[in-house]
Amino acid sequence: MSARFGIGYDIHALVKGRPLLLGGVRIPSPTGLAGHSDADVLLHAMVDAVLGAMGQPDIGELFPDTDPRHAGADSRRFVELTRKLMARGRWRLTNLDATIIAERPKLGAHKERIRASVAALWGVPEELVSVKAKTNERFDALGSGRAMACLAVAGVERGRST
Ligand code: MG
Repeated sequence: MSARFGIGYDIHALVKGRPLLLGGVRIPSPTGLAGHSDADVLLHAMVDAVLGAMGQPDIGELFPDTDPRHAGADSRRFVELTRKLMARGRWRLTNLDATIIAERPKLGAHKERIRASVAALWGVPEELVSVKAKTNERFDALGSGRAMACLAVAGVERGRST
């Protein structure tokens, strides 16, 4: 059984007056991510990675931000819907790896909690999930703290259930 891989990327503006949610975890921060949904940049990148690995359309096509049903949407719902597609195609995750790029807030102290939440949301053991964080060395919008981005890679294989 050969593994398949998908890549995901997302970026959202960091603004005052919005909560900061990463992997479904609320992170204390004076700024949060702006977006049509709850703007959970980590879950969005992961969903796109998993969709890509399965050969599905991207998150924007499946859950369009023009759809009023997704306004303020809890991104954990996107994971749930993606898991339904996985079950339908008999796909299971072999691993999820992500790097969050943000100058602030510092995420080091929250990474393990985020990892545990992400593993639970995808229904996989924590050892299949990696959540890393790095700064953008003060370069551009990410480096000046005006935005947060995330890269994710997912591996899936068909067959045996988790
Ligand atoms: Mg997004």
